[in-house]
Amino acid sequence: MTNKESLQRHLLQLDNRGYKAYKDIKDNYDFSEFTLIIDYVQGDPFASPSKFRVIVSPNIAQIPRELFNSRSREIALQDYLTRQFDKAAHSISSKRGTGKSGLIAVTGFGQEVLERTSAFIISSTASDIEDLGGVELRFVVGLPAGGRSILGRQAAEMLCEDIPQIVSQSLKYSSLNAAECRRHVETVEDADWLRKHLAEKGLVAFVADGSILPRRSGVDNSPLLNNAVAFQSPPSLKVDFNCPNRGLISGMGIPAGITLIVGGGYHGKSTLLMAIELGVYNQIPGDGREFVVTSPAAVKIRAEDGRSVAGVDISPFINHLPQGRDTVQFSTANASGSTSQAANIIEALEVGRRKKEEGRRKKEEARRKREESQSFATGMQAASCEEDLVPVLLVDEDTAATNFMIRDRRMQALIAKDKEPITPFIDKVKQLYADYGVSTILVMGGSGDYFDVVDTVISMDNFEAYNVTEKAKEIAKNYSTSRAAEGGENFGEITQRVPVPASLDPSRGRRDVRVKVRDVDELAFGTEEIDLGAVEQIVDSGQLRAIAAAMVYAKQQYMDGKRTLSEIIDLVMADIGAQGMDILSPFPEGDFAMFRRFELAAAINRLRSLSVDS
Ligand code: ADP
Ligand code: MG
Repeated sequence: MTNKESLQRHLLQLDNRGYKAYKDIKDNYDFSEFTLIIDYVQGDPFASPSKFRVIVSPNIAQIPRELFNSRSREIALQDYLTRQFDKAAHSISSKRGTGKSGLIAVTGFGQEVLERTSAFIISSTASDIEDLGGVELRFVVGLPAGGRSILGRQAAEMLCEDIPQIVSQSLKYSSLNAAECRRHVETVEDADWLRKHLAEKGLVAFVADGSILPRRSGVDNSPLLNNAVAFQSPPSLKVDFNCPNRGLISGMGIPAGITLIVGGGYHGKSTLLMAIELGVYNQIPGDGREFVVTSPAAVKIRAEDGRSVAGVDISPFINHLPQGRDTVQFSTANASGSTSQAANIIEALEVGRRKKEEGRRKKEEARRKREESQSFATGMQAASCEEDLVPVLLVDEDTAATNFMIRDRRMQALIAKDKEPITPFIDKVKQLYADYGVSTILVMGGSGDYFDVVDTVISMDNFEAYNVTEKAKEIAKNYSTSRAAEGGENFGEITQRVPVPASLDPSRGRRDVRVKVRDVDELAFGTEEIDLGAVEQIVDSGQLRAIAAAMVYAKQQYMDGKRTLSEIIDLVMADIGAQGMDILSPFPEGDFAMFRRFELAAAINRLRSLSVDS
């Protein structure tokens, strides 16, 4: 370890030399108030920027322990510091030459507060400062160049003046807005608390009174400012919670079971469902949806024609396809609307849990623990949160395949059952709940046939919610649809698949691994591009980067041609839970964000090369 002064001298000496000479500065530097670590130096000014870290010790950062004394608070504080560092870097760094010269930036983020690898709280062990925390913050730097030669003086300014200024503005508690910081951690802690307490009130989602659900625009996720109608629960669905920080909070509870959201076009149905869909994550204070919380296993289901499907048993929904095509192990490179929606549901069920099977699973888990002593601790963790992993399906008519959702009396009369491969969702939705405890929230303004099978009906009228359950039941009684139920007594088996290891290959040419992320929609994995545009609950490119790394990790650590996909995902998630996302990379990455098992599975399932045994 050398110090700031020698780094400064070194950079000045490098002035005007070829860009590659920057490689020499990879080292740790004592900056008196913090340590600067240069982990990776870019090869040219246009390449991905260099990777830096700062470590600010507890006696300098002086963050009070109460801001990180629970896991929720710690994640929230890390998120807060990341945002503060980003803000300071934006105001202080400036363009200083060609390519990425002058850039100082942390990972990108949106409205969600996610666990990330951009910041870590360091708690002190020394007794005199045991109530204080420090921070490690990871960021990237575009080392400055004129053409392809080093701009030494600018580099010295950036590294030895700008970075200390950014650190001092954003990572020392004395320079932070204490009230805002507290609000950030308290809001997130309350939201986590609410999510954890949904099940004991028999709920799958909660929408707090006063929430602002609409967004500013289709491309801007901040809250709509003008004329937004704040959410109010219908009296009959109102529930109260007593949160640890905020105290009493009331709002609409959506009970487990089958819930329909109805209402005229443009009355706010999809906006409500979208808020519920993102309620699996925490939102920053001021988002408007920070107290909209949803079961952590809620999965948005939609039609996604064109996607590939590998050996999925879609037979609960689809049978007797033309040309005798197998639907017990259904594979296609080009799914239709209905088959893609069926596959999306079955795949979510495959990696989720089913209430009835808990016992069997726990036994299996125990067996695996015995066999693999190294994953003992992680097995425990996987078994302890089963309840949270029973999927809740979220479906919006706007993005669903009509023929998958309904098949009315007249169509049943015209097209005989043996000519229609699809058993519509309406005939399976009850069995899903009865057999597996899987609830559904469905936006459906177009068909009242669902009144026969629902438990709760919420109507959106001028952006206001009403409980119209009784009325809908009454109507169902008075106007029979006369349709014949087609779904049978049971939902059917959910088959577990075993991925063939060779079919998941992240290598390309001579390089070991190639994964690359474009925005939040596309992932390059080896020679393949995976399209994740329809996986709406991937909200952050950091999640996609972590998913890509987790796919490589899954392949290297656990895919052995014997384990099922859900076992593999259990193990990966448990490892991350126990050891953090850093296990996914050989190298401290600053731009991973935490994802759920469902999105990891979604990426693997969309790999066109994937093949499975079952
Ligand atoms: P639906 O699905 O019922 O057709 P949407 O949810 O798509 O309707 O909403 C239609 C429009 O109304 C959108 O532009 C949306 O942003 C806006 N909107 C939704 N909820 C509210 C609200 N509570 N206050 C004001 N505008 C809203
Ligand atoms: Mg809509």
